Order: sequence, then structure tokens, then C-alpha cells
Amino acid sequence: MKILKKLNPDVAGITPYSPGKPISDVARELGLDPADIIKLASNESALGCSPRAIAAMHETVEQCYVYPDGAAYDLRRKIADRYGVEMDQVLVGNGSNEILELVGHCFMNRNTSTVFSAHSFVVYKLATQLCGARMIEVPMAGGLVHDIEAMVERIEPDTSVLFICNPNNPTGTMISNDTLMSVLPRIPDDVLVVIDEAYSEVALAEMPDTLAYAMDHPNVVICHTFSKGYGLAGLRLGYGIGAAPVIRELRKAGQPFNVNLMAQAAGVAALDDDDFVQRGREVYREARAYIEASCGEMQLDFVRTTTNFMLIDVGDGAAVAQRLLERGVIIRAMVGYGLPQYIRVTFGMPEQNQRFVESLRKIIKHKQQTTKHK
Ligand SMILES: *Cc1c(COP(=O)(O)O)cnc(C)c1O
Repeated sequence: MKILKKLNPDVAGITPYSPGKPISDVARELGLDPADIIKLASNESALGCSPRAIAAMHETVEQCYVYPDGAAYDLRRKIADRYGVEMDQVLVGNGSNEILELVGHCFMNRNTSTVFSAHSFVVYKLATQLCGARMIEVPMAGGLVHDIEAMVERIEPDTSVLFICNPNNPTGTMISNDTLMSVLPRIPDDVLVVIDEAYSEVALAEMPDTLAYAMDHPNVVICHTFSKGYGLAGLRLGYGIGAAPVIRELRKAGQPFNVNLMAQAAGVAALDDDDFVQRGREVYREARAYIEASCGEMQLDFVRTTTNFMLIDVGDGAAVAQRLLERGVIIRAMVGYGLPQYIRVTFGMPEQNQRFVESLRKIIKHKQQTTKHK
């Protein structure tokens, strides 16, 4: 097609993001009843939406004929108060993914490079490719933890952005406050450090105190989302906190009404829902214990997680993911993340986790029996 000859080569080079399959697709393709399918594939909340957010959305729905507040005043006010920062240090986005993309628009181009872990959130790669920048992917340390020392060492003169996902998706591992704080000061102050804390609200270990560090270092931006801890993934809402001059530039690169009216109202309400966040962590702690114990029984290795999903070593992740799918259990194979032997399962409610474990048990048993007979 002639028109595609004029396609931006940076776009042409992108491999599209492959999300977890929607339940409706799986039902259609396999002829299953959607009610019999469970999805534990996108690290969504096991508890549904924050009830406070739902109430706020009900109250707001009839206002949807007006444009939202482009400055998202109430929401930014609330976030700023919560963290004890100024409002001009807060940027809201259409999901925190938008913030990552704005970082790309502002700080990446053909003459720059970005540094991130080899097994980390795929959007860092997508933003880098979209902007034509060079990727410096750094292998992880043992135990699938960020090799943060090596990441800093790999910074080059043209490096403009370094991404740290903590806890990390898809490995679930966390770098501690001590490790992080010993390394951050060695990052040149002309490199933007993006600390992606998408899982901070569901974290099962103590989060490093990155905010204090960010307030002293204008080259640090911390990203948060409402998608995980507040159960609002479908609404698309996230935020970044950083130095006012950096936040101002990021805002310029975004669209005037980037966060919709319902999302703004829901976000304000959700921030008061500490009970919901707390309950989530309890559910995930229990899920982790159950699935870890089950892995032990099945003699499967796993990566100890600090969040609401975990990696399990099943040998051939793609094959096991497909078998699970046929049983109506949607999880994620990790081939695209360079971890082909693993599957990643998101923690659900107890009965969902049981369904996952029972299905996995049957598949593994079958596999172990067939290899024995060979
Ligand atoms: C889920 C996730 C996000 C959240 O993205 P949204 O656009 O806010 O839904 C961001 N970073 C990581 C690492 C994630 O896993």
C-alpha cells in the first residue's frame, strides 16, 4: 500500500502490546460460557472497584455532557495533600501509561537512549520505540531482581531516561529502600529517573521512601495508578509526582482534557477508600500463601512476589497458558517478556485462585505422567 511508505518508521518498528485476552474473546473462540471463565491475567483488583469510586461515578454520570476540568483541580489537590507536595508537582494522566508516554515525548528522540531492565514493563520499550530513541536493556540479577547497579553503570552520555519499576512487573520483585538509596545518588542529574510504583498500594513489603528523594532531586518522577490498588483499570487514571518545572513540561505534551470527568470524580473518592486498599492487601497476602504452598505440592518453582501477581516456572509457559485457557482460566504467558518458562498469574479471590490451582494441577500431572512414559 503506497500510503504506508510514508509511515513514520518509528511506528512501523513497534510490536503491538499484547494484553491479556478478554473473557468475551475466549468464550467466543472456545465456545465456553463467559460465566465459566476466570481472568487472572492483567493484575486487576480481585475486589472489583472501590465502592466509594462507584458512588462518585453514579453522582457524576449526568454531568458527562460538559468537558472535564482540564486542570483536574480537585483531584490534583487531593493527591498533593495526600503526599504533602504542591499541586504543581502533580500531573494526572489517562492511566499512568500516558505519563510514561509523555516522558517519551518530552525527553526522548533519535539522539537519546533509555535504560531499563530486560524483564520489565513493556510500555517503557513502547515509549522508547515510538520516539525513535535507543534502548539499553539491562539483564536482571539472580532471583529476577533489578540489577540496579548495572543499570546505573550502563547509562551513556546520551541517556535521558532510566525506568525503575518497583515492585517490578512481571517479576513481582522489589528493590529495598537501602539498595535504591545507595544507587540513586550515582545517577547523573541530567537523566530523568522514572520510578513506576503502580503496585505500591498493593505492595506486600515496605515501599522505599522515594518521595523524599524525589523532592530533593528534580530529575525524579514517581508514577502511580488507580488501576491496581483502587480497582479502576477500566477508567484509565494515573498520576506522576515530580519537580514543578518537569511536571509543567510533561503537561504541555498531553492533550487538554486528558483525564475524563468520571475518572476525576472517581479518583477523588477512591483516595479516601483506605479500607478498600487495605482489604486488597489482605486478600493478596492470603492468595500468595495459598499459591506458594500449592506450587510446593506440585514441585514448581516460583519467584517470591511482593505484589498481587506471581511468576511460576512451568517449563513451557506458552503451552501451559494455552492448556489453562482451554479450561477457561486466562493467565499470561511470559514469552514476550523474555521469560518463556514462566506463567504470570494475578491473584484473585480464594475460589478463583483455587480454580487456577486445580486446573494447573491437572495440566502438570498430565505432563509429568506423559514425560515419565517416554
Ligand atoms: C498496570 C501497570 C501500570 C498501570 O498503567 P495504567 O495506565 O495506569 O493502567 C503502570 N506500570 C506498570 C508496571 C503496571 O504494571
